[in-house]
Amino acid sequence: MRLSRAFLPTLKETPADAQIASHRLMLRAGMVRQTSAGIYAWLPLGWRVLQKVEQIVREEQDRAGAQEILMPTIQTADLWRTSGRYDAYGPEMLRLQDRHDREMLYGPTNEEMVTDIFKTYAKSYRDLPRNLYHIQWKFRDEVRPRFGVMRGREFLMKDAYSFDLDYAGAQKSYRQMFVAYLRTFARMGLKAIPMQADTGPIGGNLSHEFLILAETGESQVYLHRDLLEFDALSQPVDYDGDLSPVMDFWTSRYAATDEKHDAAAWAQVPAERQVSARGIEIGHIFYFGTKYSAAMGLQVAGADGKMVVPEMGSYGIGVSRLVGAIIEANHDEAGIRWPEAIAPFKVAVLNLKQGDAATDALCDRLYAAFDPDAVYDDRADRAGVKFADADLMGYPWQAIVGPRGAAVGKVELKRRATGERLELSLEDAIARIK
Ligand code: ATP
Ligand code: MG
Ligand code: MG
Ligand code: MG
Repeated sequence: MRLSRAFLPTLKETPADAQIASHRLMLRAGMVRQTSAGIYAWLPLGWRVLQKVEQIVREEQDRAGAQEILMPTIQTADLWRTSGRYDAYGPEMLRLQDRHDREMLYGPTNEEMVTDIFKTYAKSYRDLPRNLYHIQWKFRDEVRPRFGVMRGREFLMKDAYSFDLDYAGAQKSYRQMFVAYLRTFARMGLKAIPMQADTGPIGGNLSHEFLILAETGESQVYLHRDLLEFDALSQPVDYDGDLSPVMDFWTSRYAATDEKHDAAAWAQVPAERQVSARGIEIGHIFYFGTKYSAAMGLQVAGADGKMVVPEMGSYGIGVSRLVGAIIEANHDEAGIRWPEAIAPFKVAVLNLKQGDAATDALCDRLYAAFDPDAVYDDRADRAGVKFADADLMGYPWQAIVGPRGAAVGKVELKRRATGERLELSLEDAIARIK
């Protein structure tokens, strides 16, 4: 993308109402624009990042055997009356009325709807197990929307729903999602820790939240330091095999949010390995048995012909919240430092002298080598402006070309994460980044 033609509306001033770094940086880098309280438009840079996050989530869900669908944002109140949650959900639910005075709502989650859909088709034990997910906008009328996309009212969530014939099957599905979550967050460069958690309005009795540590996190967490040293991508995963060892490994050390904190168990952790910190919830998985299948009337014929009420779980990831969380974990004074896997563009080509024939030619070749994963700063601006913008937007690599270097065919590469600089020929520069 050529910056001379791009819509990348950066802000010069730090927005006064943004309290945390990720919110400030997302506004300054022109990633999002708030259109009303807790509701955001995603601008080109932010939208690219959101799609990259979404794609990693999708790949890991698919790998774990879940299948993608897309359910609507608008649901009928009747569906939620069937489960008994219509009144229970309270003021976080945005309630609407259509022209025929039918009561509708903007979905805050989809347990009822997916169970209702599944029920229409699932007739026998052969239709199980299944795991269906979608990546769709949700609405929760949060009392205090804040921290930008981190606590929005409209936000993008991946929610998956598993259906199994029995308890053992449901535990297997739970472990598949548990492992998929570890992989998903690790691929984004995050140290996400699974922690025992409360089930809240979803209900059920087994639940883990996945959190990353950050000073600005809204949860208080307690964990064993070992967990921060484990590497979620180091072991190959066989989703058809027994995943208990992986889950046992991750749950073998103490980790809990404050609602589940157990002082006696905590006291068993050696003092020098105790970490108590703030955390951001980026994912949450639940096993809740037959709570929704029973309420919604889902039954299938078992192998012996007897009717069985399937066991369910649900599994959420805050896709739009992750964009903020990743920035919280990857920034400095100058701006964002995107991990490569979710950077909006891998490289920014900075032309320090627009109109100089050798400089333009070298920049064109660099840009061509990486397009469409490159931005080309071909604006008629001072070098200082280009440096500052590239640092702010956080592209992993900057390829800087000025007339002095161009005269001898040299490119300066700057690595955003470390600040490391290299002077290389065009070919070596391309090879280094690729
Ligand atoms: P929180 O405790 O932050 O209010 P939650 O526990 O209510 O979140 P869940 O019902 O577990 O949320 O939803 C699954 C995921 O959706 C959460 O782990 C979080 O990443 C994301 N999420 C929930 N609420 C919001 C929100 N208001 N804005 C952005 N993401 C959200
Ligand atoms: Mg909430
Ligand atoms: Mg929560
Ligand atoms: Mg939660």
